Amino acid sequence: MKVQVVHPHGYCQGVFRALKVAWEAKTKYPDQNVYLLGMIVHNEFAVAALKEKGLFLLDERKAPLEEQLEQREKGDVIVYSAHGHPRRFHEISLERGLIEIDATCPFVLENEKLALNAVRPLYYLGIKGHLESEGFLANCPDAIFLDAEDPICKENGDKASLLAQTTLSEEEWEKGLEELQNHYSIVHALPSRCDATKIRQQAIKNLPLDTEMLIVLGSAHSNNSRKLVEIGKERGIPSYLILDENELSRLPLEGKKSVALASGASTPSEVYERVKKALETI
Ligand code: SF4
Repeated sequence: MKVQVVHPHGYCQGVFRALKVAWEAKTKYPDQNVYLLGMIVHNEFAVAALKEKGLFLLDERKAPLEEQLEQREKGDVIVYSAHGHPRRFHEISLERGLIEIDATCPFVLENEKLALNAVRPLYYLGIKGHLESEGFLANCPDAIFLDAEDPICKENGDKASLLAQTTLSEEEWEKGLEELQNHYSIVHALPSRCDATKIRQQAIKNLPLDTEMLIVLGSAHSNNSRKLVEIGKERGIPSYLILDENELSRLPLEGKKSVALASGASTPSEVYERVKKALETI
């Protein structure tokens, strides 16, 4: 089978940086308990590699992170995830005598800075329950949440501003912006989505329409990976999300001569190469 490589693939800068920061934390504090506060990046392999190195995961799917943070002991090391975190976590860490290491992506931090001087009311377009949205809204409590899946604005006025979660697609952004423009005369649209996401999404939009199949490598928890699949489907290309080569067997590959292979921003290059090789042998 012919594999059409979709560029870029492998880690984005923010993920690469976050994993390096976590890795260095364990190297610096080899004898202490080092905890990842939430999925540091949304990929099971990337997190498993850190666990093998001896770091512990405090999983947001098991209990609220705040609760898990409050159970840590003096001298424990906490690594904040790439998605950002509520500032009150810092206060809890200080109170408990924890050592803090911050792996927040600079794009996420930039959004919080943009919010400081933004015209009010400020709307935040994001995914409900995502760590990044939750962190932003906790740190900017006067921001009004707009659900990217179904943005509904309930107010009207002269002006407002709009910020978005870093990984939203152009379509989600446009939909949110349009909804706000129906309710406010002037809407200040702030540049809040990250380049890594935009470039990957554009690459899917550039695929020829006769592409037989698109495979996106990434976790079901990865918003930017799921988004790539959605964009592929919207263009009429049969598109699938899989974690690794073990999931190839559930795809309708029979009779296909070529597939386009893409990856989310937190998928390791090793996984990409393994899947590519497996497809080429079909
Ligand atoms: S996808 Fe964008 S926001 Fe997320 S870690 Fe990568 S660079 Fe940062």
